[in-house]
Amino acid sequence: MIACLGRIVHDSDAESKLDDDVSTIFNSLNLQGSIENGDVSGIASKDFGGLYSVKPLYLIRPSGAEDISRVVKAAAGTPHLTVAARGNGHSINGQAMADGGYVIDMRSTGENHFNLLTVNGSPCIDVSGGALWEDVLRRCVSRFGLAPRSWTDYLSLTVGGTLSNAGVSGQAFRYGPQTSNVTELEVVTGKGDITVCSETQNPELFFGALGGLGQFGIITRARVKLQPAPDMVRWIRVVYAEFEEFTRDAEFLVSQKEDESFDYVEGFVFCNNDDPVNGWPSVQLNPDQEFNPAHLPQTAGPVLYCLELAVHYRNSDQPSTVDMAVSRLVGGLGFVDGLISQVDVSYMGFLLRVKRAEQDAKANGVWDNPHPWLNLFVSKSDIVEFDRTVFKKMVKNGIGGPMLIYPLLRSKWDSRTSVALPEGEIFYIVALLRFAPKGPSVEKKVAENREIVKWCIKEGLDFKLYLPHYRAKEDWKRHFGNQWTRLEKRKANFDPMSILAPGQRIFKRTNQ
Ligand SMILES: Cc1cc2nc3c(=O)[nH]c(=O)nc-3n(C[C@H](O)[C@H](O)[C@H](O)COP(=O)(O)OP(=O)(O)OC[C@H]3O[C@@H](n4cnc5c(N)ncnc54)[C@H](O)[C@@H]3O)c2cc1C
Repeated sequence: MIACLGRIVHDSDAESKLDDDVSTIFNSLNLQGSIENGDVSGIASKDFGGLYSVKPLYLIRPSGAEDISRVVKAAAGTPHLTVAARGNGHSINGQAMADGGYVIDMRSTGENHFNLLTVNGSPCIDVSGGALWEDVLRRCVSRFGLAPRSWTDYLSLTVGGTLSNAGVSGQAFRYGPQTSNVTELEVVTGKGDITVCSETQNPELFFGALGGLGQFGIITRARVKLQPAPDMVRWIRVVYAEFEEFTRDAEFLVSQKEDESFDYVEGFVFCNNDDPVNGWPSVQLNPDQEFNPAHLPQTAGPVLYCLELAVHYRNSDQPSTVDMAVSRLVGGLGFVDGLISQVDVSYMGFLLRVKRAEQDAKANGVWDNPHPWLNLFVSKSDIVEFDRTVFKKMVKNGIGGPMLIYPLLRSKWDSRTSVALPEGEIFYIVALLRFAPKGPSVEKKVAENREIVKWCIKEGLDFKLYLPHYRAKEDWKRHFGNQWTRLEKRKANFDPMSILAPGQRIFKRTNQ
């Protein structure tokens, strides 16, 4: 008991000394933005996952790259402080938090850049690392009739946050992830240097920061490739009873030439029952149509598969031309006869589709609950085994949210970026997006995710975690595999004291 009291007195002494030290440093900083004391109930201690919470020392709302540079340099002047950029806090496992360190709210810089330019004859836009993709979309379409080529499903994510991971959606089979669609970055490194980088200028920093989990620098500006925005989208879902048929069609579609395939290809698994969240009702796009299970073959198992597809078109296109193009593309697919659903929506409405789901989830209270999500990349060579064990057995009763699965092509990803991928050319993104508060406890859901990852490791699957979360260095080394040495070198070059992104738990802060 006495020993315990001693520790409390010691800790609070240390804390107040630490506060003194830091406020002295800050007084000399001359920031243009603002600073708040760290608060355990504030945004810097929270994320979408809701599984972790740590208290930062300060929350900083910078006005731009210069402020961020000053904060990083101030942290470097202490023996222990770390700095975490916080995008929109949509991480699952505390990746944007800094225990006792500085959290930088990048959203305060969201408006800093928005310049259209032409590079080698193609349109690009310079946007802030703290901008939300939904704002980039709205502004690009309304002002210029242009739009980025590669998206995420949900757009209330920041440019810097998704570029630090990869940024994947149904366009990635064609254009690669968002990390393959930027040509230049401005980055504040772990030394506090403000550096512009690209494929030809400081390429190690450019490729390091892309998919770099925030380890090498804070992205303050990104130059994003644009293309003409369509007006409308034909949004289609087709259902499969057999996994082999689903994957055959999905892989065929992502391997076709641009004008011979859909503009968007995704897929998901759902339960073969009438459960409103996990089953048949989760599939229909048109609320006036019901899913008719009478179409399913007798052989259908506990789960079914849905390909989600889209075709872009313009208001000036003749309806018959659009219908013909869609019929031609859909006609070659082997889905269950009669199990097709489609609607026409505006291009913006399509890209903002998860925003509507967010509004519904907020209204019924599930948005703010913990979200023990699991995202993986699984090689084509192991996806049948994954389906047999994980989808058909471990999660066959659903997870209270979407279970995404769709193929991507490794050749559309740049191997110079920091993202870790499976070996095969075709690999699947698998996302278990657990929402419902009902059913097993959060701890049980987290344990189920761990079981899945453990099983993948034990069976030697060719897989990687996407939005990875590991605690032990050996796990990180295994995750990065033969890229580990490159990662360490980049860390030593750009953040030698391991100040940045401590919430990823890859490197420990040093004083060297
Ligand atoms: C509802 C929902 C839907 C999603 N859909 C998709 C999807 O379709 N596709 C997909 O790929 N991902 C998706 N994600 C995951 C998303 O890409 C990650 O959550 C990602 O972290 C972006 O979120 P954020 O901008 O809030 O970043 P944060 O969660 O705030 O930060 C993520 C990491 O990046 C670092 N970071 C943040 N900003 C910067 C910066 N400017 N420079 C350097 N490092 C930075 C942070 O320190 C942290 O380590 C989804 C997440 C949610 C919650």
